[in-house]
Amino acid sequence: MSESTMGPRNQGAPDYNLHLHPMMAKNYGKWDHHERLKPGVIRYTAESGDNLYVVRAGSPRTMSPATVHKICDIADRFCDGFVRFTIRCNVEFSTDKAENIEPIIKAVKEELGFPIGGTGNSVSNIAHTQGWLHCNLPATDASGAVKALMDDLIDEFEKEEMPNRVHISTSCCQINCGSHADISIIVQHHHAPRIDHKNMMICELPKVVAICPAAAIRPKMMNGATSVEVVEEKCMYCGACHGQCPSMEIRDADTDTLSIWVGGKASSTRGGPSQMKLAVWGIPNNPPRWPEASDAVRKILAAYKEGGKPWERVGEWIERIGWAKFFEKTGFPFTRYHIEDGPDALTTFNRSSHVRL
Ligand code: SF4
Ligand code: SF4
Repeated sequence: MSESTMGPRNQGAPDYNLHLHPMMAKNYGKWDHHERLKPGVIRYTAESGDNLYVVRAGSPRTMSPATVHKICDIADRFCDGFVRFTIRCNVEFSTDKAENIEPIIKAVKEELGFPIGGTGNSVSNIAHTQGWLHCNLPATDASGAVKALMDDLIDEFEKEEMPNRVHISTSCCQINCGSHADISIIVQHHHAPRIDHKNMMICELPKVVAICPAAAIRPKMMNGATSVEVVEEKCMYCGACHGQCPSMEIRDADTDTLSIWVGGKASSTRGGPSQMKLAVWGIPNNPPRWPEASDAVRKILAAYKEGGKPWERVGEWIERIGWAKFFEKTGFPFTRYHIEDGPDALTTFNRSSHVRL
């Protein structure tokens, strides 16, 4: 990578212009329209009349070097060596030759074992947070839960039968570093962190006090040395302190559960971003296949598929029918835990004299 594109200290993301397929670079900013020829295959047509074909496959995100080599080999054979990953970890093979589409699909299925799909109104590839591979906080195996769920929903990835595209994610702790989605499975902790005072004392002044968003941690002398205590009534079991300090252990195999949040999305040309809201809580964290979580996601998808209007995202569908109908149609119980009561809740309450769901 030259210094002119990466800067003198080789930091930051590489210049993406260097990684565009030549046909994409030639028509950059001059694309006229695109069509989905079938699930997983898109044709982009430029103002010049040039066509670029994309075959999209679902990847497992966590891949061995051998798998990456196979992806690159397919890209070398059919795509002039160019390949890209989408935000949902789909892998896209681009070619300017229509006759390459079927050979790419055959190679992806036979050599990689990846499914083709994830375009248009499908359930796109299910994403998960970094997990045990890079992080010290996981309370579940997000990648394993995604594999089990994707096995269950593979037909919805390969078809385009949803009202709009559906992004699903799984997150392995409550901090949730990357699981904002239409439907999101997130770990829930149910008690304050346990403090390992013996190891906490190796810090002269425990810095973990500053990390707590609820100001629930305060310094405390233990056996003549500095440690901390947690004010249980203030603690919201978020686990932020555990990320800062290994002596604050919040994970608990006996009590941690999974929750499902719905309605999150980034902004698009049609509308602004929206935050997820709690739909189901207390789902068993049940490896290796998490059947209860898959079942709950299936119920939400079935209700959305049946009731969503064309191009309505999950959150827009719920906003239209109302939360009372959402709970009625999915069959999940509405509980007091669904009512937001945090310090910022005033900004989201319905401020009328009538309580509406
Ligand atoms: S969701 Fe939490 S545990 Fe999982 S990778 Fe992100 S920060 Fe780590
Ligand atoms: S779990 Fe969260 S709220 Fe509770 S003490 Fe730790 S940082 Fe504070």
